[in-house]
Amino acid sequence: MAQPQKCAAVVVGAGPAGLAVVGNLLEKQLGGKIAWVDPLFQGGRINQRYREVPSNTKVCYFQAYATAVQPFRTVIENTRIPNPFTTMAKLDQNKTCHLHHAIDVVRALTDGITKMERVLPCRGVVTAANLAEKTATWTVRIRLQDSQDEVEVLTPRLVVCTGSSPTEVSISIPGHHIERLDLDLVLKPSDLVSHLPRDKPLTVAVVGASHSAILALLNLVDLARTSHPELRIKWFTRHSLRYAEFMDGWILRDNTGLKGSAADFARQQLEDDKLPHSEAGRFITKVYCGDNQEQAQYERHLPSCSYLVQAVGFTRDPLPELSINGSSLEPEFDPVSGGFRDSNGRVVRGLYGAGIAFPERVVDPYGNVEHAVGFFKFMNFVKRVCPQWVS
Ligand SMILES: Cc1cc2nc3c(=O)[nH]c(=O)nc-3n(C[C@H](O)[C@H](O)[C@H](O)COP(=O)(O)OP(=O)(O)OC[C@H]3O[C@@H](n4cnc5c(N)ncnc54)[C@H](O)[C@@H]3O)c2cc1C
Repeated sequence: MAQPQKCAAVVVGAGPAGLAVVGNLLEKQLGGKIAWVDPLFQGGRINQRYREVPSNTKVCYFQAYATAVQPFRTVIENTRIPNPFTTMAKLDQNKTCHLHHAIDVVRALTDGITKMERVLPCRGVVTAANLAEKTATWTVRIRLQDSQDEVEVLTPRLVVCTGSSPTEVSISIPGHHIERLDLDLVLKPSDLVSHLPRDKPLTVAVVGASHSAILALLNLVDLARTSHPELRIKWFTRHSLRYAEFMDGWILRDNTGLKGSAADFARQQLEDDKLPHSEAGRFITKVYCGDNQEQAQYERHLPSCSYLVQAVGFTRDPLPELSINGSSLEPEFDPVSGGFRDSNGRVVRGLYGAGIAFPERVVDPYGNVEHAVGFFKFMNFVKRVCPQWVS
């Protein structure tokens, strides 16, 4: 293995959160390079899976993200026109858009940032990192994508922005096996259309009432209306639909409520007083699972379903193997400072997190606690905590 390189920071992950972290660290003018590690450098999970998904965020918030730090503005100024920034600038700023617009902006920023002199892009995966407490130095091990060689970087700061994947909860029905449909597939209509057979009756079970669940219902209803006339949907939900509400200067259920086209579809077609008469209601049967009826309802209804898709949240992707002085570390995220604690509650020096896996905890004026997930929210969080990370 080559001699370890010294860097001012190592940032793991090049989704919207990792990019926000690198932009902020560059703005803080740390002495030394920032090593940035990702297998692809193409905008993370949204680019791979959710380009066709309608956003729940207005275009102006993607714009605010893209112009929040000077290094991003420098990239925008130096990118030949037309480009994803000019395309986004032409969209209605007060409306939502498809996520491909937002993620193309992230990709264009990533291209520009990785070319900056103070950034050391490493196409690969961080496999492990150990903190030597005596020297307050992390030794970060990176498996490079192209050569499969391993390299080490020494740094006082390690920032993990490693993302999350759809949660799968085990559902067992005695004597019955049901094929799972990946949520990501259901959120990508161009693939879904060829995945499901068109020439025979089939019923898809959709579990959940989240933003993703409503988008899954929307995509399946679109297929039933068009290419898959024999497709039917059973929708298993525990509670009534919850919407984000615009209050006086703030948003109630900003991170958990339905927004954008998912909210429009839900209001117009899925509410209890609308479903029996709506177009969606021709294909969807709602199965109420509240009041602890879930298992009984699964046993009753799932045997008649051919596929099951769960849209019940997102779970952190695994972190690299972390240790302190060679002893394994199970870090606990602190959603206020963006730092981590060990199992004894001690602050882990130089370890930070951001993004969907490590979001900020926010409390609204009614006292409701949520986790702030979204490009511009990651940016605001990192802007707030980054000065402590570099002090
Ligand atoms: C369906 C859906 C719709 C959404 N819509 C919106 C929206 O409209 N507006 C909005 O603002 N937000 C939206 N979000 C929320 C959020 O902005 C996205 O989830 C965003 O992709 C999260 O970015 P991230 O950088 O945290 O994670 P990711 O995009 O998942 O990026 C993580 C990156 O880390 C890399 N990685 C992981 N482990 C390692 C390792 N060990 N070494 C190196 N690299 C590693 C991964 O390969 C990946 O590239 C949506 C989320 C979902 C799921």
